Amino acid sequence: MNVIRWLAIITGIVALAAMILYALGYLSIQYTNADSRPMGTAYEIDTLDRRDDVNVLFILTDTLRSHRLSTYGYERETSPTFDYMASTGIRFDRHLAQSSWTKCSMASLWTGLYPQRTGVLRSPHGLPEDAVMPAEIFREAGFRTAGIWRNGWVSPNFGFGQGFEVYERPVPTPRARHLRVENPHIKLEGTDSDAVDAAIEFLRIHGRERFFLYIHMMDVHQYLYDTESALFGTDYSGIYDNSIRRTDGIIGRLLTHLVDTGLLEKTLVVMAVDHGEAFGERGIEGHAREVFRETTEVPFILSFPFRLDPGLVVETRTRNIDIWPTVLDLLGLPALPDTDGRSLVPEIFSAAAGRKLDDDLVGVTHLDRGWGRIENPSRPTIAVTLGDHRYVLQIGTGEPDDPNVELLFDSSLDPLERESVLETSPEVLADLRVIADEYFESPDPPWGSGPTTVELDDMEAAQLRALGYAVP
Ligand SMILES: [Zn+2]
Repeated sequence: MNVIRWLAIITGIVALAAMILYALGYLSIQYTNADSRPMGTAYEIDTLDRRDDVNVLFILTDTLRSHRLSTYGYERETSPTFDYMASTGIRFDRHLAQSSWTKCSMASLWTGLYPQRTGVLRSPHGLPEDAVMPAEIFREAGFRTAGIWRNGWVSPNFGFGQGFEVYERPVPTPRARHLRVENPHIKLEGTDSDAVDAAIEFLRIHGRERFFLYIHMMDVHQYLYDTESALFGTDYSGIYDNSIRRTDGIIGRLLTHLVDTGLLEKTLVVMAVDHGEAFGERGIEGHAREVFRETTEVPFILSFPFRLDPGLVVETRTRNIDIWPTVLDLLGLPALPDTDGRSLVPEIFSAAAGRKLDDDLVGVTHLDRGWGRIENPSRPTIAVTLGDHRYVLQIGTGEPDDPNVELLFDSSLDPLERESVLETSPEVLADLRVIADEYFESPDPPWGSGPTTVELDDMEAAQLRALGYAVP
């Protein structure tokens, strides 16, 4: 802790110097008028675990690719709310989802375990009761817990409701005529406004108690946008951006409610994503079909009950399996058992001190391309990232038309990862192959072995088909 104390002292001195400069008019610091959170430093981050009044709001935006948010460098202003929360909190710049399919990705995000260990790889799989989920830890610690979700892959029968006192779909309201859902396969009723209304209702009842609230947004997945305020055109990719901008505003409405009720200064806001979206970069659109950068590089933003100025950026590789180890560590709550992910608190204090860490955290993403057809053989694909490299392995069935495929990208030379450098980087390839082999030999999860197998009833299957998934 000595290093952390020193970092806190140095950061405090820098913050004090900044305040003096600001008072003298040498710096101009812009805040939104409504946000009354006090200023904080690394010291306040370090001592967050001594507070007993901090709530957690977890906003999961389904299908949101990091490259499409302005705070991640996109040229369109798609995300003023995300940008503001990042600019007063922490943005994790190279953050990786553990799958490109919701259920597999969310099972890893919640448990801190890679997909190979959760075993939640195919459509009937779920997390067993013996899995320890963050909501159980929060509830045990006295938080009121609620989950509001609109994606059937995180429904309670797959084990995702564990620890939540309330775990429900919001009641859908009829959609206004000027709202349009571009994806023709998706027939989900209502909008994310229904989820925010339900969240605000929960806060009206329980906002004075300590709470953990999870809200799972679906409008970006649906390409739902407002035809009357479509800023970015009406081609497929532009509609995706319009949908992000609209969802950003809906999240802004929830955060405004927290500001108005004084809750934002008592709330740690966790903004995360299950997977991204492809737009034909490699001849594939959508998600849940491969694990390239387009569908696996996702945003992760932490916003504290106080404002950081400037906001911090963690530039090294981080992963969704690190989210709950980090949040539970920050709050001084018990850790999840035996995770593959780890607390990013060292990265946070390094960013606060302006010190760059080695980018040596391995990231793995994993998709079974046979997830929807349980009667067919497994067809896994994984990507292993280390530093600037991404090694993609697609394991085929062994038939002549479905061989194994290997690709290796170096984003320092090729930021869009279009040209494989498999032939020219044999040493990197050898190292990443070893990591891939070890990944497939991962130990059993803490609960013993394997996922549960869930029998989908007709209604559930219909709901998942309504999301555009091919459910047998
Ligand atoms: Zn999803």
